Amino acid sequence: MNFDLDQEHELVRSTVREFAQQRVAPVAEELDREGRFPYDLVAGMAELGLMGMTIPEEYGGAGADTLAYAIAVEELTRVDSSVAITMAAHHSLGTLPIYSFGNDEQKWQWLPDLASGKKLAAFGLTEPEAGSDAGATRTRAELRDGDWVVNGSKIFITNAGTDITACVTITARTGDDEVSNLIVPNGTPGYEISRPMKKLGWRASDTRELSFEDCAIPEANLLGPRGDGFHQFLQILDGGRISVAAMGVGLAQGAYDLAYAYANERRQFGQPIARFQAVRFKLADMATEIEAGRTMVYRAAWLKDQGRDFGLAAAQAKLYTGELSNRAVNSALQIHGGYGYMDEYPISRLYRDQKILEIGEGTNEVQRMVIARHLGL
Ligand SMILES: Cc1cc2nc3c(=O)[nH]c(=O)nc-3n(C[C@H](O)[C@H](O)[C@H](O)COP(=O)(O)OP(=O)(O)OC[C@H]3O[C@@H](n4cnc5c(N)ncnc54)[C@H](O)[C@@H]3O)c2cc1C
Repeated sequence: MNFDLDQEHELVRSTVREFAQQRVAPVAEELDREGRFPYDLVAGMAELGLMGMTIPEEYGGAGADTLAYAIAVEELTRVDSSVAITMAAHHSLGTLPIYSFGNDEQKWQWLPDLASGKKLAAFGLTEPEAGSDAGATRTRAELRDGDWVVNGSKIFITNAGTDITACVTITARTGDDEVSNLIVPNGTPGYEISRPMKKLGWRASDTRELSFEDCAIPEANLLGPRGDGFHQFLQILDGGRISVAAMGVGLAQGAYDLAYAYANERRQFGQPIARFQAVRFKLADMATEIEAGRTMVYRAAWLKDQGRDFGLAAAQAKLYTGELSNRAVNSALQIHGGYGYMDEYPISRLYRDQKILEIGEGTNEVQRMVIARHLGL
């Protein structure tokens, strides 16, 4: 086995780290406070080829592998989760379904703008009455005179309503026992997008409620075979879990960085608090768990890149890093004492940004259900 990253992956890490430190870190607090979508940073990430990282170059992507993508997501999250989820949701939820399941015409229609990061895309699975039980989709699409006519609603959809969003791929019931995926272009009559939802964290990212009322889209916007929607979204979620798991490692690492620096700087009882064993042990535990989590994420990404079954590894990595990031932000904030509770200390933002990592792309409980199923239980 070789645990060293090759030069290409090291270059991805150093490039994204530099971008995160130089471009994201100075504005992260302000974007969060104002709940302002980071258009400039999306343009910067597009220039670096991050918005379509694993999409082949012929479609405007960077043609990188999943491991490179996981490293990029990790490095962005280490500094700011809102920026990271904007990139990750666009890539794995918005763009990959069109690349993985689209026909040639659909790929050439959508991918050049999406993979190059000129436009954003979203994936609308969750509904007010269908969350963990995502197969309980109530949104309906009926074929009428060559159009799919969509009625229903979606909730908590990332990247759906920005000024540069091109489309959302939604799951809809196209028959009593049939779920299909449909691409709905933004601006289609009958497709309404709510104002941005107010959130505990990820405040600079775009989260919307969507409603469809007799919204007619061309029959050709069906993604893949009719009735394949359930199978498609399970595949999309498997891949998306690698993104969220990479976010867990990145967030925990970011919390560790802040706590490590603070512990060496803050003095009480005449010495830096890093001298106290209770503080050192917290940092030692964090560093240990981060190493374990990172290895799990890279392994899941590697399995995917080998074309091997990665569903179990991705669910395990997502569960573990979700919970480890929770412990990490909690310990890191504790090390900051009262200062950590103040908005001007970045750890307070990381603390708020963490919780969703145990909810999105399947809650901790859903991950355990997926893992148990893989174990034959
Ligand atoms: C900021 C944000 C961004 C999001 N972005 C997107 C997006 O881009 N696209 C998208 O489609 N969705 C998105 N989501 C939705 C997210 O994936 C769902 O919130 C998540 O899957 C959980 O669904 P729910 O919120 O309806 O919770 P519920 O399913 O109602 O769960 C509530 C609780 O019940 C537990 N529970 C449910 N069923 C079981 C069971 N069988 N056994 C044990 N416990 C159970 C859950 O684990 C949870 O603790 C986003 C959510 C947020 C908050």
